[in-house]
Amino acid sequence: MSASTVDRSPVHVVCPACAQRTRVPAERLGDHPRCPSCKQPLFTGSPVSLVDSSFDTFVANSDLPILIDCWAAWCGPCQAFAPIVARAAAELEPRLIVASLDTESAPEIARRLSIRSIPTLLVFRHGREIGRRTGAMPLAALVAWLGTLGLPVST
Ligand SMILES: [Zn+2]
Repeated sequence: MSASTVDRSPVHVVCPACAQRTRVPAERLGDHPRCPSCKQPLFTGSPVSLVDSSFDTFVANSDLPILIDCWAAWCGPCQAFAPIVARAAAELEPRLIVASLDTESAPEIARRLSIRSIPTLLVFRHGREIGRRTGAMPLAALVAWLGTLGLPVST
């Protein structure tokens, strides 16, 4: 199978606005695709806020890897780390999706994921957790860690 054949296979993406699962040709991911249902951008360049009701759908139905920043409003290090997560979203989409989970707003998911300290970073691929780190880090270290997980983050 040639590389071009692989590139034409559609990628399933979940719309961050309406949670509709949609298919985007792989070679069109960088063309600012919009949701066919609600017409909103599929990639906003900023972290997607996940809650208890949206987490499973979003994580299970995305073909792209997802980086999730688990945080809380009372957590100082989380506040300091948020701009780095935002920059990661701006720089890494659509190679991967960047999301955030407010552990206070999503207590069921936070419990199921065994989030014991924050910020915790999770990486999901095809609905499965493939990486986890606790604590804030500079963007370069974040990108380097994602690279060790086999994600296409090098520029
Ligand atoms: Zn939509």
